[in-house]
Amino acid sequence: MHGTKILEEADRLMTVCNSCRYCEGLCAVFPAMEMRRAFSDGDLNYLANLCHACGACYTDCQFSPPHEFNVNVPRTLAVARAESYAAYAWPRAFAGTFARNGLVISLVAALSVAVFIFGFAALHDREVLFGIHTGPGAFYKLMPHNAMAALFGAAFLYAIMALAMGVRAFWRDIGEPIGMKTDARALLQAIRDAGELRYLDGGGVGCFNEDDRPTDRRRLYHHLTFYGFALCFASTCVATLYHYLLAREAPYAWWDLPVVLGTLGGTGLLIGPIGLLAERWKRDSILVDEARYGMDVAFIAMLFLTSLTGMALLILRETAAMGPLLALHLGVVFSLFVTMPYGKFVHGIYRFAALVRYARERKAMAQGTTLE
Ligand code: SF4
Ligand code: SF4
Repeated sequence: MHGTKILEEADRLMTVCNSCRYCEGLCAVFPAMEMRRAFSDGDLNYLANLCHACGACYTDCQFSPPHEFNVNVPRTLAVARAESYAAYAWPRAFAGTFARNGLVISLVAALSVAVFIFGFAALHDREVLFGIHTGPGAFYKLMPHNAMAALFGAAFLYAIMALAMGVRAFWRDIGEPIGMKTDARALLQAIRDAGELRYLDGGGVGCFNEDDRPTDRRRLYHHLTFYGFALCFASTCVATLYHYLLAREAPYAWWDLPVVLGTLGGTGLLIGPIGLLAERWKRDSILVDEARYGMDVAFIAMLFLTSLTGMALLILRETAAMGPLLALHLGVVFSLFVTMPYGKFVHGIYRFAALVRYARERKAMAQGTTLE
């Protein structure tokens, strides 16, 4: 007996697949499944988060509908995966945010942007809000640096804490001991697999869409989004070091490292999400969890808006639009931070944890041992 209907269905499918094993070369899910004879809730959540939703095993399956076995691994694991996000959410009271996630994220973003815009308008004269501010410290005429650092630092730390608690619960549920010794080789393997999105390649041909012609575009747009996000994060870190170690205040020149990193990352974060959205529309509805469409779109939209408002601020920072644009950008970024643990962002964290587990299992298997 499992905790939910979808885990019952995932168990049924994994039992069928374990007898068939036709798809074992497609991705990590099937080899991980073959290491088990029975599946606990944690095992199924592990397999669900190991799945990259390429769709290949549906197209290749001789038991997919209309066959009476009704095997649809991609969609079943997609639903189980989405339900696992709510199951591991911290604090538990916020698990409900994963239902109607698109609406929740939109409301939080709208509220956050409104608070920043009205806050700036209430705290500053027209001359300051629409004034032209240039040179070091220009942004801090609208919002003092210490207030910015305290507010965003607190939101970021909260997001990290909530994500860490969620992944801790997942980690324990999938059978990994919390105090696991650091396994550098498995960690490196997982970093490589995640960095390459190795299992998003449909067994080498690409992701499957509505027209049954697999392509690698989804992987490309994922890369642009992920590395774009990473570069923007690196830009923020470098700017923080500039501020505290070198006493150099933003905004920085076009050629300076934080701006170069932010521009490169921001470009990736504009193209990647648009591409992901286009690919999401093209996906065959039989392969995906249509009920979570809002969650997918909300996350993509938040990343896109973060980049769009950041790039607009960069381009127009020496004009009268800087004040309103700064409020808009800060509002979007703040809502991105506080909603990170309660939206599609978590898929990257849980998938990475599942890849670490998988690397450890493979290593143990190669050594002829089992995980403790
Ligand atoms: S998805 Fe279908 S073909 Fe693939 S292992 Fe399962 S039952 Fe076999
Ligand atoms: S959808 Fe792709 S990644 Fe997921 S189980 Fe099937 S083949 Fe593996």
